[in-house]
Amino acid sequence: MSAPRLEINLSKILQNAEYLVRLARNHGIAVTGVTKACLGSPSIADALVCAGVSGLGDSRVENLKTMAHAGVSAPMILIRSPMMSQADLVVRHADISFNTELDVIKALSEAARRAGRQHGVVLMVELGDLREGIMPGNIEEFVHEILQLPNLRLAGIGTNLACRCGVVPDTKNMTALSTLVTTLEKKLGVIIGIVSGGNSANLHWLMSGCHIGRINDIRLGESILLGREPLHRTPIPGLHTSAFTLVAEVIESKIKPSMPTGTLAQTAFGEQATPRNTGNVVQSILAIGRQDIDPMGLHAPSGIDILDASSDHLIVSSDHFLKVGGEVAFQIDYSALLRGMTSPYVRRIFTKPYALGLSTQPQLSAA
Ligand SMILES: *Cc1c(COP(=O)(O)O)cnc(C)c1O
Repeated sequence: MSAPRLEINLSKILQNAEYLVRLARNHGIAVTGVTKACLGSPSIADALVCAGVSGLGDSRVENLKTMAHAGVSAPMILIRSPMMSQADLVVRHADISFNTELDVIKALSEAARRAGRQHGVVLMVELGDLREGIMPGNIEEFVHEILQLPNLRLAGIGTNLACRCGVVPDTKNMTALSTLVTTLEKKLGVIIGIVSGGNSANLHWLMSGCHIGRINDIRLGESILLGREPLHRTPIPGLHTSAFTLVAEVIESKIKPSMPTGTLAQTAFGEQATPRNTGNVVQSILAIGRQDIDPMGLHAPSGIDILDASSDHLIVSSDHFLKVGGEVAFQIDYSALLRGMTSPYVRRIFTKPYALGLSTQPQLSAA
């Protein structure tokens, strides 16, 4: 089979999504399945829909389009603030978008009017992580404006934590979100449908048994795909952590000294090599590099250590000889998953079908 490739076990993804949908539902919360690490893979999106997510969220409108065109049927949500230059695309391919800028919201209203469509706006609130979000004191004027703009409806309020600064979702910031929603409803006489509390980093808060308040939606990507929570990257009990496996092929295998010969300057990526003298080692090269994967996000099988990576070479040492033409399988983290799924050099192969949905046969796919 061709390498490098990501082997994707759809049945594990389906089971992870089902587990998390059930868990959230027990707290009165719906799950938006986040597909942004998957380049709009219709098979993965379909597994999430079969598991009962209430909608699909992606940060790229192109991915939403890919999924819809492949026949995936679910509410489509753009979870990054739209580029103004993409307003027409956004109203065509997203039912809802997350927003933080009035000029963009106005452009969406105009685009929706031109297209004869209604577009839903979720306003994102800044609650401390300092990535996207309107300062809480300014939300009211945004709501006022939206209520006056044609072809737009206020679909909800949301927040995002833990992504830029690692701010932990807790009782305090989640209560602040709930309070904001209640205050807006009372003061402005609006009904706020979606209250989206955050991402996979919210699972700790969700499971800690604290008061859920008004939150009725969370957006889950990494926890569904990799079975881990992103605050400490610990496995979530009951979930599969090995739905994705990266396979690379050996192209050189030799006994080499562990120490380089000559004067050392910068490496290909501007770093300083820090070799350790361990005598002669079994050193192999795998045909995969930074163009394909984040080498820091690979977890090698036992007996194999990753030494270095350049654009196209992954250098490993091992306690046994690796045959040229043979393959090595790695577990991956979110960063490696993202790069692997979006690299044109990495094949995506679905190894385990599941009973429901579009994909009932194992399939080979380049997209
Ligand atoms: C990426 C992202 C998510 C999903 O985050 P995970 O940690 O993968 O669950 C949710 N919301 C927004 C706004 C995002 O950008």
